[in-house]
Amino acid sequence: MTEYQQRKQERVEYYRKYIYGWKLRKCIACNGSGYYDHNGSPKCDGCNGTGKERYKDVKKTDAVATQATDGFC
Ligand SMILES: [Zn+2]
Repeated sequence: MTEYQQRKQERVEYYRKYIYGWKLRKCIACNGSGYYDHNGSPKCDGCNGTGKERYKDVKKTDAVATQATDGFC
């Protein structure tokens, strides 16, 4: 295997593992603000204060995944 192929394979694996199917959405716990309430309130646990959360967008299990994460954030 050439170095080019080796690197390409690593990129593909990285993509599959960390990027493919993952999407960002507004955190449902804090509605995207990153905080539970107003100024001075603690950071949102669900998104760690980012206001966004990553979720796996897998079409077949979309309904199941949505159910599983509802009320979890
Ligand atoms: Zn949040």
